[in-house]
Amino acid sequence: MAFDEKRKVKPPMEKKLIITCRVNEYKSRKENPHVPFTPDEIAETAAACRQAGASIIHFHARNPDGSPGHASEIYNEIVTKIHEATDILIDCTLGQITVGDDKDRIDHIAKAGADARTRPDFAALDAGSTNIDVYDPKTKSFQTGNKVYRNSIETCLYLAAEMKKAGVKPHLSCWTVPFMRAIEAFLDMRAIEEPAYVQLVLTEGGIIGGHPGTIQGVESLIGFLPPERAIEWTVCCKEGNLFPAGAFAIEQGGHVAPGIGDYAYPEMGCPTNAELVRRFAEMGLAMGRETATPEETRAMLGIH
Ligand code: ZN
Repeated sequence: MAFDEKRKVKPPMEKKLIITCRVNEYKSRKENPHVPFTPDEIAETAAACRQAGASIIHFHARNPDGSPGHASEIYNEIVTKIHEATDILIDCTLGQITVGDDKDRIDHIAKAGADARTRPDFAALDAGSTNIDVYDPKTKSFQTGNKVYRNSIETCLYLAAEMKKAGVKPHLSCWTVPFMRAIEAFLDMRAIEEPAYVQLVLTEGGIIGGHPGTIQGVESLIGFLPPERAIEWTVCCKEGNLFPAGAFAIEQGGHVAPGIGDYAYPEMGCPTNAELVRRFAEMGLAMGRETATPEETRAMLGIH
């Protein structure tokens, strides 16, 4: 087994498996009808995913019609309802490219941090920029040509500082090798505290801004994990089936972040988020990795 002795981590098979469920992103219900939209639906999903073996839920707030919601009030309502329903750890989005300047992007987190009832445990911080336009090989064209997911160094450092103030830990999304190099720099300058929680974002379905959802896609990213830093890493796959890359991550001592927000899983008959989590939990167990409880996840990721 390829395992780097220098890294400050336990041997993979002794380490508990953190499952994060990415429940909705900005997916419609066209492909999978189980995508949760409302605060009640998201809270119910959180409780079901916790039962199935997840210890973190990642969600995007929606308006009642399913469109992206960004009001601080909706985030507060969702976080409060999840806290009432279950002890799962909570990870909010910043809204990706759907909102304006840096202050707008972090506003709901900055406000929520003031009160334990509304404060999430994590928020997403993408450590770099990339093009997220979709290529369609059938028509030999791109669906769009200007979807830059822009996160300048200045933006990243501002968001990291705001998260620190709010008492919220960044989940550091890493789409390509330069994102990993930025994370290394942020750790070096103590803008981000160790242990860091890094999410490798693989992309399929024509999105060419990330590594492919394959073993090779993961391998080329984890080859650049800074060996002297305490990092727990997980893997997700936008618009693609996470099982092949997820199995490799489990074997390598990483963690997994599946969800029907990323992919509808027609191979499995379009399952619920909890059904999907259960399959990853069973795979982890079969490979010698028990799922981590929220308390164990807190300890592994240094959340107090
Ligand atoms: Zn997200």
